[in-house]
Amino acid sequence: MKKLAGVKGMNDILPDESFEWEWLEEVVRSLMRQYAYRNIRTPILEHTQLFVRGIGEVTDIVEKEMYSFEDRLNGEALTLRPENTASVVRSVIEHSLLHEGGRRLYYMGPMFRHERPQRGRYRQFHQIGAEVLGYSGPEVDAELILLASALWRKLGLHDVRLELNSLGQASERATYRDALIGYLERHRDALDEDACRRLYTNPLRILDSKNSQLAPVLASAPRLFDFLGAASKAHFQALTDILDANGVAYTLNHRLVRGLDYYNLSVFEFVTDRLGAQGTVCAGGRYDDLIAQVGGKSAPAVGWALGVERILSLMKESGRTLDEPLPAAFAIVPDAAAFPVAMKVLQQLRELGLSIQMHAGSASGLGSMKSQFKKADNSGASYALIFGAEELARGSVAIKSLRDGVGQQSTWMLDQLPAWAATLQSQSPSPTNL
Ligand code: ATP
Ligand code: MG
Repeated sequence: MKKLAGVKGMNDILPDESFEWEWLEEVVRSLMRQYAYRNIRTPILEHTQLFVRGIGEVTDIVEKEMYSFEDRLNGEALTLRPENTASVVRSVIEHSLLHEGGRRLYYMGPMFRHERPQRGRYRQFHQIGAEVLGYSGPEVDAELILLASALWRKLGLHDVRLELNSLGQASERATYRDALIGYLERHRDALDEDACRRLYTNPLRILDSKNSQLAPVLASAPRLFDFLGAASKAHFQALTDILDANGVAYTLNHRLVRGLDYYNLSVFEFVTDRLGAQGTVCAGGRYDDLIAQVGGKSAPAVGWALGVERILSLMKESGRTLDEPLPAAFAIVPDAAAFPVAMKVLQQLRELGLSIQMHAGSASGLGSMKSQFKKADNSGASYALIFGAEELARGSVAIKSLRDGVGQQSTWMLDQLPAWAATLQSQSPSPTNL
């Protein structure tokens, strides 16, 4: 039969890599606890209408990137989530989570977009996101940015820079939109097809065009920042005051408008030069109108999402390598008759926190001691626990060092093993350094 392959642009994450994912997730979890953000898990499928309303009809995502289909059984229009903010907002409204004040939430998980697969761009990719709902002050915008910066520090990433802009409020954007359309109409011959198509539907998106031919025209385009009123400018100033006081560097990028319709006031991206065209590793902003747009009682909100694949590949590019945690011990079992007692001992040691890999046989038996020792070596374990028949008959087990002082062997009574485990654990530092 023909071999079946996975779906294009959707990757398996194999054990040689998945330990890095687990490590990153652990770092994020502990950081989120420090900032008092709580976890939320929403379904991967939502009604298509949620994303159409939440993300906006004239966005890349809704126009061409969504995996949408009709439920064969009841005809409902469903979509694999392309991002998670709309789902979080839906859930917060549905379960009245804002009744008792604001919420600080975070999520991790797969997202789906039908894009052309390339390095740093996949059809199933993973995001970690943080959302703060119910607070309108710039201090929460700042908190989210400080949280992301703290994460880069924990991950050992130094080549990430912050770009900021303010999109102001809808009325300010409307005035700006007219000015921008007027300007671009005057430079129509310099626009490409994409820009012409967006000129009246989503002209702000033209500003972040990746086509370098447009650069000169866009460089002299009117700036949204100049159209902001006093309140919007004050919000931005308060945010940057906090960032300055905390030593967070940023640049004001007038062309940063973000791809989704729902943003207002602060928008930001964390960008690196090390990942080629897919250089945005984390992006977010304020979305005070979204909750009402999705049918909830109007409430302010702000959040960001980072691309896990891009962060991990940036760690690699930056030479930040991780050591996979190895088992402390490998259990050598020369004769199958030893398994009942051996496995009881291993259970006890594991309950004390030790990681132990046990030898297992194949159709041809358990294999020679030599081959078992070879497997013990390959496992990376520091010790071999040898459950030989003679030792077991005396109620003991032999322990051989495979690393430091390799070859040294000692015999331990089974009831003394917890003491051995305790000395082992006091020696080995936590591998994750959280
Ligand atoms: P881009 O401009 O690269 O398409 P975006 O603006 O569509 O990004 P967002 O919707 O803001 O991205 O998603 C937040 C983050 O998720 C991005 O900064 C990126 O790190 C990651 N991301 C987005 N799309 C993909 C994808 N197809 N594959 C891998 N990561 C992605
Ligand atoms: Mg995109």
